[in-house]
Amino acid sequence: MTTVLGCIADDFTGATDLAGLLARSGVRVSLRIGVPEAPPADTAAFEVIALKSRTAPVAEAVAETRAALRWLQAAGAQRFFWKYCSTFDSTPQGNIGPVAEALMADLGTDQTIYCPAFPENGRSIFMGNLFVGQQPLAESPMKDHPLTPMRDSNLMRLLAPQVTRPVGLADRLTVAQGAEALRARLAELAAEGTAHVIVDAVANADLEVIAQACRDMPLMTGGSAVAMPLPGLYLADGTLAADAPKAVAPQLKAATIVLSGSCSAMTNAQVADYLARGAPAYQLDPLSVAETGAQPALNWLADQDLDRAPLIYATADPASVRTAQARLGVAAAGEMIEATLSACAVAARDAGARRVIVAGGETSGAVTKALGVTQLDIGAEIAPGVPWTYCTSAGHRMALTLKSGNFGAETFFTDAQEAL
Ligand code: ADP
Repeated sequence: MTTVLGCIADDFTGATDLAGLLARSGVRVSLRIGVPEAPPADTAAFEVIALKSRTAPVAEAVAETRAALRWLQAAGAQRFFWKYCSTFDSTPQGNIGPVAEALMADLGTDQTIYCPAFPENGRSIFMGNLFVGQQPLAESPMKDHPLTPMRDSNLMRLLAPQVTRPVGLADRLTVAQGAEALRARLAELAAEGTAHVIVDAVANADLEVIAQACRDMPLMTGGSAVAMPLPGLYLADGTLAADAPKAVAPQLKAATIVLSGSCSAMTNAQVADYLARGAPAYQLDPLSVAETGAQPALNWLADQDLDRAPLIYATADPASVRTAQARLGVAAAGEMIEATLSACAVAARDAGARRVIVAGGETSGAVTKALGVTQLDIGAEIAPGVPWTYCTSAGHRMALTLKSGNFGAETFFTDAQEAL
């Protein structure tokens, strides 16, 4: 069907997060990994294109985003959403501002909003200042991020050096007065030539107001949360027909494989929980993988009953990870593990697994690539920001869930199986 909202996200897990929130409406949401090479076909009401542009050189990020925009326009979309991190991850060069300005130019629009707030996850904006929980952004752990250290909490000051046109604020006092007041404030700013408007939000009710006031803008930008009310608004006013295609969960065999390449604290707890339940499991030791490759893991897998959802994991505590990295090199250790888990995913699929649970952002990228998956339909939410997705791999319909490091509860691996 014709796409109603075209979304572009600057990284994969961000795209999944946004797609999951849009899918809470029940309407079909489709996620594409990278800009599809083929022209749009079998498009959904909500299309999300996942890029890997958060820390790419500005020109590259702009070019990729423009290509994504063209594809979404070809899918029929007339409204667009530019999704970045709720901690506004960027540098004085970009990429949030330059990408927004390029999209505005292509869409011929003079104004957009910026609302990275995600109150449910502790991201709020007041008087243009972004808070992470109770801390201003610049006092949160984001101040030490290796690629995008955030050393200022004021979104106007953060955005201004990234753009060529004036930056302004629609503050919480306006938002609290409702959509009409916010629209009036945006019009006032537009009349003054303010192209880029930061919008305060401290609670979900604020996001409802903002979505309502801005729903007809050609371009909105923000974290995932401000987009969440849009499907409901489109359904309510008929922009989206009440009988718009719903997400359909395919009937799939229970055969499952669990693959874990994340070493985050939460994933360590999730693996420990799954082991404690007596799940069949095989631990990948990077040092032995370096010697023997994937074969021993594949041999083990071949003997498993996939209905028991066996786990193959490289997940380890920080000290073991450091040891392996010191011996093999950080990148080489990571690539070896990713290659092994990817080979296991393909072997499990060929042995009949139709449900694949993956832990780890980079690991997820490697596994989807190995499975040849470039399009995912969003299904049931397992944990906030982590849905099941449905895809086709080597002609088989499959369910895939891709969890980045710190997401999900300790019981995630069993939660995922129960959610299908
Ligand atoms: P997260 O989402 O937690 O950041 P990722 O999959 O993005 O997880 O990153 C984890 C990286 O660490 C991957 O490249 C993975 O291959 C690598 N890795 C996993 N286990 C080990 C290990 N035991 N030793 C060294 N590197 C590992």
